[in-house]
Amino acid sequence: MYTTALVHLNSPLQYLKGVGPTLAAKLQAKGLETVEDLLFYPPFRYEDRSRFLPFRQFRDGQAGAVLGTVSSARTKTWRNGQPMFEAELQDEEGNRLLVRWYNARYLASEIVPGLKLALFGKAEFDFKLGRNFLSHPEFEVLPEDSDPEAALHAGRIVPIYETIGKISRKQIRRFLSHALPACQELVDALPAQLRARYNFPALAEAVRLIHAPELDVALEQLNSRRSPGHLRLIFEEFFWLEFGLLRKQREAKSTPGIAFQLTPAIRERVKAMLPFKPTEAQKRALKEIAVDMAKPSPMNRLLQGDVGSGKTLVAAESAVIAVENGYQVALLAPTEILAAQHYLSLTKFFRPLGYAIALVTGSQSPREKAQMKKVVAAGLTPIVVGTHALLEKDVEFAKLGLVIIDEQHRFGVLQRMFLRQKGLAPDVLVMTATPIPRTLALTLYGDLDVSIIDQLPPGRRPVRTEHVTQAKAKGLWPKVRRQLEQGRQAYVVYPLVDESENSLDLKSAVEMHRLHEEQTFSGFRVGLLHGQLPAAEKEAVMDRFKRHELDVLVSTTVIEVGVDVPNATVMVIENAEKFGLAQLHQLRGRVGRGAHESFCYLVTGKLNDVSAQRIRAMTESNDGFRLAETDLEIRGPGEFFGTRQSGLPQLRFAHVLADRDILEQAREEAMRFIEKEEGSLRFRQAVDYLEQHWQRRYGLAQIG
Ligand code: ADP
Ligand code: MG
Repeated sequence: MYTTALVHLNSPLQYLKGVGPTLAAKLQAKGLETVEDLLFYPPFRYEDRSRFLPFRQFRDGQAGAVLGTVSSARTKTWRNGQPMFEAELQDEEGNRLLVRWYNARYLASEIVPGLKLALFGKAEFDFKLGRNFLSHPEFEVLPEDSDPEAALHAGRIVPIYETIGKISRKQIRRFLSHALPACQELVDALPAQLRARYNFPALAEAVRLIHAPELDVALEQLNSRRSPGHLRLIFEEFFWLEFGLLRKQREAKSTPGIAFQLTPAIRERVKAMLPFKPTEAQKRALKEIAVDMAKPSPMNRLLQGDVGSGKTLVAAESAVIAVENGYQVALLAPTEILAAQHYLSLTKFFRPLGYAIALVTGSQSPREKAQMKKVVAAGLTPIVVGTHALLEKDVEFAKLGLVIIDEQHRFGVLQRMFLRQKGLAPDVLVMTATPIPRTLALTLYGDLDVSIIDQLPPGRRPVRTEHVTQAKAKGLWPKVRRQLEQGRQAYVVYPLVDESENSLDLKSAVEMHRLHEEQTFSGFRVGLLHGQLPAAEKEAVMDRFKRHELDVLVSTTVIEVGVDVPNATVMVIENAEKFGLAQLHQLRGRVGRGAHESFCYLVTGKLNDVSAQRIRAMTESNDGFRLAETDLEIRGPGEFFGTRQSGLPQLRFAHVLADRDILEQAREEAMRFIEKEEGSLRFRQAVDYLEQHWQRRYGLAQIG
């Protein structure tokens, strides 16, 4: 069935038949560089094109696949005045079926009489016409029967791939048919006893079955990703992930760490620092941290709490324990603004204790930096706050005892590992506002214990959130002005596609700033903040806003995380449909931090299904955990965690939520394998394989 030109796993896709440099570049943008990458690009659905329903069986409400030849096609006007594309199809028995696509004038050039189509959808009944029709189905144009490719796209169970840019499902299917012979080069490294116990097909076979399923496999099994091939590949991904994490964990546990003392005098120092009464949840979290810190093995703990739940206070308390034991504390923030913020909060927190605090950022002059480094290396400052600049190799600590990392999702596992090596196995506390179900966090982070702050400080009122359409946005500004007149402050945020600050978006923030300053908020002091300002200026603008020398802050999403100005009570998010749910929630978390009632306005243009769901979720809930669950439902776990940024594993076949059962199974097997086989040849082979094949993908590099 497949030509056997020489294809190798590591061949660049450019050289695969039919690809070439242009398409290869598009594939590469999706992370597909080699033939092997393509083999691990799974279909998201399967269609049984060996068994199409005859038209006569296709009745109202029935869903399924049909096959037919286009006999006529035209664009019509639908009841609501929108264009509708309609085609009439004929099947092998000579019966006819009407097919309609709404708002799809563009199909006129694609679907023409004589073409053979495979369609997948649901039949509806048109009362006026008194006949069934297929409503807005998915479809694919099939090659002529005489075409040698026909067998690839019909007459069998056909894999359906996510299109990549303009590369169609059919093209991807064709590329895969050319790539499949390379399967024979795949090394099967899953321990043989596991393969036998679960009756898994060999790796090469599993991959082949995913892309070219055999006819005797139930379609249902394929589509629920529970076919033998799927089971093996899902299990395998989890197995290597857990194997890597467990090894790391064991290694960490056997590394000697610092056993911090927790004397009554130190407890008194912690109390002396507190500017307010901690919530019960904060107390519980600190207790868990303190117990960990007192142990002789290094702490590795995730502190999870919704925006505004007061993680910084808990972090500061833990810092006191470390400092009073004679150690230094490093606090890492994802951005310069946040580092500056933390510097200010900690300065305030530690004033009663008289600790010296150093700030190290990338934007400092070389001289300043050199000076800071000397101070840090000499151990003259117990607290060091900084950005990734702190990770630079030549920053030496005299006696690093505790590392606090704010906003986990911006930092990869890699950096975490790297940082650990800077001291004598310091304790690590990672803070995050991204709510992850506890069981999931345990398995995913593997080596992290989890503390949760599930309570907000007293006196907080939920932020009132409203959806405002662009058309009605004019009515919004007087409401904002009223707040400003009462002495409050406001944020107006414009979206950016990513941190590289696409110039178009930047322009909108800059232009809107001018407009707001001159018109909307004339008479008020309006500041502008965006990522391309020099760091010192960013800090200055933020400082002025904090000191209420500015009433309104127009910004891009640089203020997303952690900014804390309790007097700000209004958050306007423009083009809110462009933001993810987690990000919207983070942004909203910038208000509702003081005693005054706060408002969040989500201004949107045209909404699609997904963005409408998000906006609705935001207006209905203030609870980060609830929203995270909704987000998972809407988007699926991969995107939710923002895998690339987070340093979390990039899973191809497995879904951390949907396949949780297999995840747990794989974790147990990995544990068993390590216990039974450690030191054996088989074990060493597994480690080699892990290092060569999975380390980069899982961000597990630098396992000792
Ligand atoms: P986040 O968890 O989002 O980092 P922060 O640590 O910035 O939250 O705290 C949010 C705000 O709540 C800050 O202004 C902080 O001073 C205040 N805060 C924290 N804990 C308490 C508390 N127990 N009582 C009153 N206010 C608190
Ligand atoms: Mg914070």
